[in-house]
Amino acid sequence: MTEQRRTGLKELQKLDINIREARQRIQDFDPLFAEVEEPALVLESELGTSRTRLKEMMLEERRLESSTEERKDRLKRLDERVASVRNLREEAAVTAELEMVRRALQNDEQEALTLMDQVRKGEERLAELEESSAEANALVEPQREELITQRAKAKKDLEDFEREREQFAGGIDPAELRIYDAIRRGGRWAAVSELTEDGACGNCFGVVPLQFQNEIRHGDSLIRCEACGVILAAPEPVVEGAEGDSDDEPEVAPDSDETEAESEPAGDDADVEADADEEEGASAAAAGEAASDAEDQEEEEEV
Ligand SMILES: [Zn+2]
Repeated sequence: MTEQRRTGLKELQKLDINIREARQRIQDFDPLFAEVEEPALVLESELGTSRTRLKEMMLEERRLESSTEERKDRLKRLDERVASVRNLREEAAVTAELEMVRRALQNDEQEALTLMDQVRKGEERLAELEESSAEANALVEPQREELITQRAKAKKDLEDFEREREQFAGGIDPAELRIYDAIRRGGRWAAVSELTEDGACGNCFGVVPLQFQNEIRHGDSLIRCEACGVILAAPEPVVEGAEGDSDDEPEVAPDSDETEAESEPAGDDADVEADADEEEGASAAAAGEAASDAEDQEEEEEV
């Protein structure tokens, strides 16, 4: 009887939801890893840029040094030539060149001073970055290890759920399991849903024809919602607390006699069925059944 009320399928669905949530939890770790590693990665990249720039400045410094050496040599040679000029015109030419080289040398010296200052600042910045980067890396490591531990636990949970699911599915009617799996394969969360108090599908809240409501409550055959296709299960028997309010049957207002059809399904079958014929029309109910059968067949072909 319990099996026929589709409690088995409902339990299976709970396990499947656990599995899906566990998979999602595992995936959710990816952005967390990225978040933890990001500050260290940003510093690492800044450090790289800083090192490259410093290297370039040092190369420039060396280039400047050798150019200065060359100019000093040339200046020395020009000084010697001044001493041995033979006429005024030659002297004027050598003096002009001397003047030009001296000016270039001054520029070099100025440039060298600026560059030295930049190199010094660059080295300071690099030292700062190296320190921050080391600190960030020291922080990242324990956080990353913590995430790895948590993710391993989530993976273990998933394995447990999957094992439990496999065992549980073994005890379920294979034909029903096939339909259930076919519905879920579409990526939907709900494959089974309870009939609501007032006879609607618990998934889409579409009204279920009275005749089917009875069949569902008695668990005689597997009935699917005509609107959304979920397998409809009988509601859990009222235990205590949560469903306690329904004892008052608020939906059966004292002034209404039209709500009879929707009142407690526990009443005898003949009555409810007669009401169904009045309300829905026998042909409509039959058509509904046909549609539901067709859908079942469709699922089975998919399988
Ligand atoms: Zn539905």
